[in-house]
Amino acid sequence: SPGTALKTDVVVIGAGQAGLSAAYHLRQLGLAPGRGYVVLDASAAPGGAWQHRWPTLTLSTVNRIHDLPGLAFEQALNEGPVETEAPDVLPATRVQARVAVPRYFRAYEQQFRLPVYRPVKVNLVTSRGSRLRIETDRGAFSARGVINATGTWDTPYVPVYPGADRFQGRQLHTHDYVGADEFAGQHVVVVGGGISAIQLLDEISRVSSTTWVTRRPPVFRNLPFGDAAGRQAVEAVEDRVRRGLTPTSVVGVTGLPLTPAVEEMRARGVLERLPMFDEITGHGVRWNTGVEVHADAILWCTGFRSSLDHLAPLALREPEGGVVMTGRLATQVEKDPRIHLVGYGPSASTIGANRAGRAAASELLKLLQLP
Ligand code: FAD
Repeated sequence: SPGTALKTDVVVIGAGQAGLSAAYHLRQLGLAPGRGYVVLDASAAPGGAWQHRWPTLTLSTVNRIHDLPGLAFEQALNEGPVETEAPDVLPATRVQARVAVPRYFRAYEQQFRLPVYRPVKVNLVTSRGSRLRIETDRGAFSARGVINATGTWDTPYVPVYPGADRFQGRQLHTHDYVGADEFAGQHVVVVGGGISAIQLLDEISRVSSTTWVTRRPPVFRNLPFGDAAGRQAVEAVEDRVRRGLTPTSVVGVTGLPLTPAVEEMRARGVLERLPMFDEITGHGVRWNTGVEVHADAILWCTGFRSSLDHLAPLALREPEGGVVMTGRLATQVEKDPRIHLVGYGPSASTIGANRAGRAAASELLKLLQLP
């Protein structure tokens, strides 16, 4: 009923890689499920954002999915409680990420008996003295700490260009992409210089003509992206969030791998990239040079922002738009140390989410002197 809130010590918001890692470590550190911690997840089923990825994203086209702590991906799929529904001898090129990863997460939640409640969407988190009130679409919770792991998938980002409202074709974002077939025979303008843009451009250019536009000339790398370079990329994002700046993507800074698929796209001529257009017209896009390209659809592969709106009442954001982060792995909010953000900024990758979940769980329990 309105007003009464279920009491627990820690609420984890979101059950993607970051939320599950945090929950695992809360459990390992001795918090009791329910009274000690709960996980609230807006999605109807396990899998975090992976369950919503486009059907053609397979285990061979993702960068790499790191195992959650305590249970290997392979082991979960082959021996876990979901054995009967897992025909996992398929080659990685055919296993959909949106099927395999959710299956793994389901097995993981079961194996560690994590108290995940779903679908429960957190609408608002407010401060009530020493406690936090977590308002959801299914009632309220009262907690002493929050580990926020809501990811980015629900907040697709589309930059503003003049004329966008005039366009009579279809505009969609990576978030809405379900496959190339619906563009057959059309002309599609693909916007964005990241891995998603390349993958979708590859697929769409097989059934339709395309124009590829990016803000900066894309840089392809043919050497494997080394550990040192990866660390450097993560450190740069960590430095930003410690200063309260908005995070940039860590998955994005690794550059574009020069794969056989990319070589083949180049040979087909679909990687002839143009700079960003200056305006959108009723039927296409236009550059200030006067050049205009007709488009039936504009596909914005322009990334995502952190889904943090429900934390707005806590006024954590700086004028620069970011949140000043502190703590060992920069998961703790400086303004309100009872709040941790995991899967945010430097930890927005599967490996980062794992580590952040661990750091957040141990730092938060120390702060709250739990269990
Ligand atoms: P998510 O998996 O997005 O989970 C967030 C969960 O929170 C969801 O279940 C959602 O329903 C829930 N939620 C959101 N808002 C609320 C709310 N208000 N109340 C309750 N619940 C809520 N990383 C890699 O390391 N390797 C890769 O190959 C890779 N490929 C990627 C490909 C794509 C297309 C994208 C978009 C990202 C990729 N990443 C990759 C990044 C990686 O997926 C994430 O950083 C990582 O999985 C961590 O996810 P997360 O737990 O932060 O969030």
